[in-house]
Amino acid sequence: MVYTPAPPDPTDVVTDLIDAHVRQLGGQYSSEHYRLAEVVGRYTTVGGATVETKALAKFERNVLGDRQRTVAVGAAAQCMGHGCADPSSGESFVEPVPLDTNRHDVATAVLPHIQTAREWAQAHAERCRAQRYAGR
Ligand SMILES: [Zn+2]
Repeated sequence: MVYTPAPPDPTDVVTDLIDAHVRQLGGQYSSEHYRLAEVVGRYTTVGGATVETKALAKFERNVLGDRQRTVAVGAAAQCMGHGCADPSSGESFVEPVPLDTNRHDVATAVLPHIQTAREWAQAHAERCRAQRYAGR
């Protein structure tokens, strides 16, 4: 029997992104300002290319004020078609919240954004005829 893994829930994906950031804080090469992304959906277009949806997490630290660490979670969809006329849904983010906000609440807030990105990806896949990039 072939084992087919079920895709992870986007809330778990986002929780893992925040965990990964928190783990690296305090390390020698830790970074306060950066972003992480993880694929949460993949679609085949009618042209044979791939559209991906991603969960995004943007981390910052207010350097002038209270030095509070924040996270903003979001989503985006991107078409990899070679020459696609409209390859990006754009990025949409939830308002930044303190990094120590309950992870589950943060992760749940991203769901409507991921749903919007998925709907964009699905609709795009149904009409995009740009081909898969084959290396040249
Ligand atoms: Zn496309």
